[in-house]
Amino acid sequence: MTDVADLAPIREAVRALCADFPGEYWRRLDRERAYPTEFVAALTKAGFLAALIPEQYGGSGLTMTAAAAIMEEIQAAGCNGAPCHAQMYTMGTLLRHGSAAQKERYLPGIARGELRLQAFGVTEPTSGTDTLSLRTAAVRDGDHYVVNGQKIWTSRAEHSDLMLLLARTTPREQAKSRTAGLSVFLVDMRQARNNGLTIRPIRTMMNHATTEVFFENMRVPAENLIGNEGEGFRYILSGMNAERILIAAECIGDAKWFIDKAASYARDRVVFGRPIGQNQGVQFPIARAYIGMRAAELMVREAAALYEAGKDCGAEANMAKHLAAEASWAAADMCVQTHGGFGFAEEFDIERKFRETRLYTVAPISTNLILSYIAEHVLGLPRSY
Ligand SMILES: Cc1cc2nc3c(=O)[nH]c(=O)nc-3n(C[C@H](O)[C@H](O)[C@H](O)COP(=O)(O)OP(=O)(O)OC[C@H]3O[C@@H](n4cnc5c(N)ncnc54)[C@H](O)[C@@H]3O)c2cc1C
Repeated sequence: MTDVADLAPIREAVRALCADFPGEYWRRLDRERAYPTEFVAALTKAGFLAALIPEQYGGSGLTMTAAAAIMEEIQAAGCNGAPCHAQMYTMGTLLRHGSAAQKERYLPGIARGELRLQAFGVTEPTSGTDTLSLRTAAVRDGDHYVVNGQKIWTSRAEHSDLMLLLARTTPREQAKSRTAGLSVFLVDMRQARNNGLTIRPIRTMMNHATTEVFFENMRVPAENLIGNEGEGFRYILSGMNAERILIAAECIGDAKWFIDKAASYARDRVVFGRPIGQNQGVQFPIARAYIGMRAAELMVREAAALYEAGKDCGAEANMAKHLAAEASWAAADMCVQTHGGFGFAEEFDIERKFRETRLYTVAPISTNLILSYIAEHVLGLPRSY
């Protein structure tokens, strides 16, 4: 297990990098709905996005705890890791289930950031959370698969070279089991774009480069199938714990940012002749948010420790994501309230971070689905869907 003290230099290095990307930078991007190209390039150059790629493929070979610390620091500095966090974990499916040749071919480029693997195509408009009902089909045709269908909320598709795509290769009624018949492909979007792949941006309440993508007879070489045909659902699930832990760490970073901002403002802002933070009605919500954040942080650490020890961490990764997303949202709401009217002013950055952190009780997995997971898999209650 990683010693938390060993991470101080990494945390410091991330903070130093983030200092070059202050509030004005993010406010401008937010207004223009632009992608933080310079920020992502700086993180890539420093090797942070290759944290989880083993050294033999040119990555830093760091632990999940270290990777989580990187994402947490980015958020705690007021920056936003969402435009690039997928570069850290999407490659996990390739690393765990890809062939030796696929790993040799792609991982070094991903580690260097020359190949961006940021797009993850799972969610579809008709099936939503019910992944097993997805309709995008990949049909074998000689040494290719021909893909038809649509994905939605495929974030960063315009800023990625590769997409990890989940598609149905065996019709549901012919599949051996409920979870069989789905396959994972590594799609080279540079070749596929305007060759059967169309990407349309979706404007959202925060500056999140998300899109919908359409596949019309898009040809994917059969050699880009990851693992065995029909077992893709299992491969995707195995990558979700890493995603949950890292996004939970981002939420912890957000919560820390909101709590610091609120405590500092409550100390300084004088109304009725005394700091507003002297009123228990102002200090208690800040203390409550802090307690919530610290409790969630412990669960994130536990999930990361189990993950890096190779143990089952499904329950802990889900609980960490749930507690951390709730903690960051509670801290965001508290921070707006503490700032009164100024919480709404763009130049305080709070309303922007408030919008950004709102996402995490919905995506990448919604609160209800986490509760269902715990109810079924930990408490032995009947499956509700
Ligand atoms: C900004 C953004 C970025 C995203 N990025 C990606 C991405 O890169 N790749 C990708 O594949 N997906 C992505 N997603 C999709 C995200 O994972 C889904 O939005 C999320 O999983 C919920 O699916 P849905 O929106 O279809 O909601 P639905 O499945 O329609 O659910 C709607 C609501 O009903 C609840 N609900 C549904 N079924 C049940 C049930 N059985 N019991 C209790 N409650 C239920 C849900 O919890 C939710 O609150 C992104 C979404 C957003 C908004």
